Parts: sequence; structure tokens; C-alpha cells
Amino acid sequence: MKKYIGCDLGGTNLRTAIVDVENGAVMHHLSVPTLARDGHEAVMKRMADLFLHVIQRAGMKKEDIGGIGIGVPGVLDLERGETLFLPNLPGTWPHVPLQSTIAQLTGLPTQLLNDVRSITNGEWRFGAGRGVDTVVVFAIGTGIGGGLVINGQLHLSMGGTGGELGHMIIDFNGPRCGCGNYGCLEAYASGPAIAAMGMKAVAQGVKTLIADFCEYDLNRVTPELIERAARADDEIAKNIYEKAGYYIGLAAANICVSIGPRRIIIGGGVAKAGDLLLEPIRRTVLERVRVMPVEQIEVVASELGSNAGVIGVASWAASLA
Ligand SMILES: [Zn+2]
Repeated sequence: MKKYIGCDLGGTNLRTAIVDVENGAVMHHLSVPTLARDGHEAVMKRMADLFLHVIQRAGMKKEDIGGIGIGVPGVLDLERGETLFLPNLPGTWPHVPLQSTIAQLTGLPTQLLNDVRSITNGEWRFGAGRGVDTVVVFAIGTGIGGGLVINGQLHLSMGGTGGELGHMIIDFNGPRCGCGNYGCLEAYASGPAIAAMGMKAVAQGVKTLIADFCEYDLNRVTPELIERAARADDEIAKNIYEKAGYYIGLAAANICVSIGPRRIIIGGGVAKAGDLLLEPIRRTVLERVRVMPVEQIEVVASELGSNAGVIGVASWAASLA
């Protein structure tokens, strides 16, 4: 069977890999800076060169490759193969025909998918979601992305916009979110939201290891630093992860009663905190879901790490071939 190329179009790096879509193995990978400030035309040219280069470096021929999948950080129009809004890239890429441009430059069939839906597909097929037919993914990082697999199908809906779980409203009186709405989960439990809770404690002069570790420099407060304080048994730091987990747990509870997932997968950089974050999510789901056998719903960490996206989008491209 032919191999597929998966690509993660990031704000900082273009990561690409040749993937064996039968077992999810990454065979060859290559990464270059996105240099997004050069504009979308230059980035697309760089991507196409990167794909041709990785094929060559792998000692393969174009004929060995079935197609390309690109995971894109933002809103897409999947029917038209265009980017609509990429908040982390300069110029935000409104109506850029990414799919047809890459197909033309490389001569290979190309598919697009949102980056967290790519991760969702990867984890479902080859990672923490293996073997069950209904899966929820929360990717907790700079923002909160999401994805759903329902009854054995990656859920996409209008242009691929279904599954934006970071923008579930968990408090209608809540603070403004990056999306312009108020009270979204992302405003409560993303990496920056967790860091902000730590900064607030330090600024208020609360006695906490967070203050010692950052040496009273608020710019140095990160989710990792707060995690380190929590592991050293600091009550304030533990409480911050408790709170973030509680909010994610509330959102997860809402998803549980909506689609009854068998597994809820927590990924993204912030999920490296492990049980500090997973335990309060599990507890909240158990406490707040009443109308279904909630003890059958597993809350687990993602398994594929930073490869989930390229594996998932390569396998997505293969599923459409
Ligand atoms: Zn939002």
C-alpha cells in the first residue's frame, strides 16, 4: 500500500512526515521554519518543496506516495479546500486555496483538516482512542482545541467546524475569550489561563512556591512552573490545576450527556501535568453526569504526543483516496 505525507502547518514550524497509514508509523520526518511573515504564497511554496524533499530524503519516488494531508491551525472551508481564518499566522489567510495550490505544486492529491481534528483522528486510529467508536479529544495548549469521533466517524460538519470544544460556554457571565465570545472554556483552562491564575497569586502576595520559583518575575510563570510547585505540594499550585481540571470536567460532562463517549482523551502541552489535571477532570465527570452509566467513560491522556497530528492527517488523506 502507498504511504501518505502528513503535515502540521504550525505558526513556528512546518513539520512533515511520511506515514505508513496501515499502522500509524512515522517513517521519515522533516521540519523547517514556517517563516509565516513572508506571506501565504511563500509558505505554500516552502511546503510544496518540503514535501518533495522528504520523499527524496526517504529514498522514495512520488509514485510511492498516495497523497498529502495538511493539518491547519484554524477555520477551513473543507468543501472549497480553502483556509478561512488562521489566528496564529500573519495575515490570517482568508480564502487562500491551500488544497489546490499544494496539489498543483506537488502533483499529488492533497487534503486539508483542522489541526486538532487531525490529532483526534490520529489518537482514535492509532493512539489512546483505539478500539472504541465514540471519542472526545481536548487539546489543551495556548488555546483549547477539540475533536469528536461519533459512531466510528470523525465528526466534521459545516466545512469541518464541528468539535470546537474550547469554545463551549461554561459560564455565561464569564470573561471575554480570544474568539470574541464570553465565558468559553478556553478563557478558564488554557495554558495562558492557568499561568494567569499563578501570576495573580504572586501579584497578590500570597505565600506560594510559584513566587519562589519565578523569583517574583510574573513573566516567568508558566503552566510547567506551576506544575513543579504543585509536585512540591504547594497548595496554591495544586488548587490551580484542580480548578482548571474542574472547568475542563464541566465541559467534558456536557459532552458526555450529548454524545456518550467511551473515551475522553486529554492532550496538548498542558496535559503533560498528567494526573494533576486528569484527576479533577475524572472526579468532575463522575459527579456531574447523572443520566448515563458514567463509570464506563474513561478519561485518559493522549498517547501519540506531537506526532498525533501528522499521523492523523496522513491517515485522513488515505481514507479519502
Ligand atoms: Zn471562545
